[in-house]
Amino acid sequence: MPQKLDAYWMPFTANRQFKKSPRLLTGADGMYFTDDKGRQVLDSIAGLWCVNAGHNRPRIVQAIQKQAAELDFAPPFQMAHPKAFELAERLVELSPAGLNKVFFTNSGSESVETALKMAIAYHRVRGEGARTRLIGRERGYHGVNFGGISVGGIVGNRKMFGTMLGGVDHIRHTHDPVRNAFSVGQPAYGAELADDLERMVALHDASTIAAVIVEPVAGSTGVLIPPQGYLQRLRDICDKHGILLIFDEVITGFGRTGQPFAAQTFGVTPDLMTVAKGLTNGAVPMGAVFAKDSIYDTFMQGPEHLIEFLHGYTYSAHPLACAAALGTLDTYKEEGLLTRASEMQSYFAEALHSLKGEPQVIDIRNIGLVGGIELASLPGEPAKRAFNVFLDCWDKGVLIRTTGDTIAMSPPLIVERTHIDHIIDTVRGALRRVA
Ligand code: PMP
Repeated sequence: MPQKLDAYWMPFTANRQFKKSPRLLTGADGMYFTDDKGRQVLDSIAGLWCVNAGHNRPRIVQAIQKQAAELDFAPPFQMAHPKAFELAERLVELSPAGLNKVFFTNSGSESVETALKMAIAYHRVRGEGARTRLIGRERGYHGVNFGGISVGGIVGNRKMFGTMLGGVDHIRHTHDPVRNAFSVGQPAYGAELADDLERMVALHDASTIAAVIVEPVAGSTGVLIPPQGYLQRLRDICDKHGILLIFDEVITGFGRTGQPFAAQTFGVTPDLMTVAKGLTNGAVPMGAVFAKDSIYDTFMQGPEHLIEFLHGYTYSAHPLACAAALGTLDTYKEEGLLTRASEMQSYFAEALHSLKGEPQVIDIRNIGLVGGIELASLPGEPAKRAFNVFLDCWDKGVLIRTTGDTIAMSPPLIVERTHIDHIIDTVRGALRRVA
């Protein structure tokens, strides 16, 4: 235990509460963390939806070590290093058809900002500079920078921070725990909610709208699986009106839903796609935006000596991140992890839905290896009940994640049946004890 806990201002954490009884992780291996008391803690959330291949995988560790000794940094503006190109080529082998260009960032939030700017600039380069409006969705989470919280739809993440980006609207979310309660896989009802986009077009005119951004599966607001037909309907409306469709796949990318990307699982291809997290298995910060060839080609039309897209980060395509990502892709490939969720999903779904009927469980949702268990909120104390379940599970040696009063699960894709049983049994016990 460190002697002093004062200086570190922790993100997205109740600092005062945490510092009274800190939870410290000091090691990790495979499906487990080790805490500062030497306990093994089973990881049901892949760190923070990112450690898809499990913790401390040797190929990734070695790739980072080797890279650090070889080339620590290379400026990414007007310069490059070979692994950046190699990684982009490897990524487009996996990406949905036509998304063949990759722009590197350092996080999910930065990927979102990049995609929003790319969308607006794309229209401008095409001579449609009036297309600047962005459409997000209620309950959307797109990181914490100003663009992301503007298109995002979580009131708590917005209300402290003054004026949001102008010209942003939101379509409705798809959460319907009445008609779709306890759906296994994609819920049956709600495709028509995509028609909200037509209302935006009727209100603003398509000629002012640049892009729509949605998470194919909204993770941070409680694991909301898209209703059958919903994403296709969004795609059709975008096509009809020349609006770009952005999928934020920061959580769903890299095998979470059973295919490399959720776009492939749901059979709907966006124009731009943001990723991070599983790209490097969480080992080094890195994000990326995939763009359709037609978008890249549009930017490439100006005079050759000009910079086509005035945007980028000091650490874009950082050598350590590229090495970590290459080691990660090797690990995914060797172990078949990018489709493993499709093999495990029926076992996972059955285990998850066995919690139906446990105290306060009002809905369960799942796809691939991601699941949500929604609890009835304590009157006047939203999120408290789920947090109590989190604390109980931590005591029993299982790390879960809660968001509001939903327990969100996304175990590393190496998860075995015995781990799933252990996680679900622990949550079941916690639900009963907390009740
Ligand atoms: N988009 C989505 C869909 C996310 O889930 C997250 C993080 N959970 C982000 C963006 C932001 O990513 P980061 O925390 O790496 O900035």
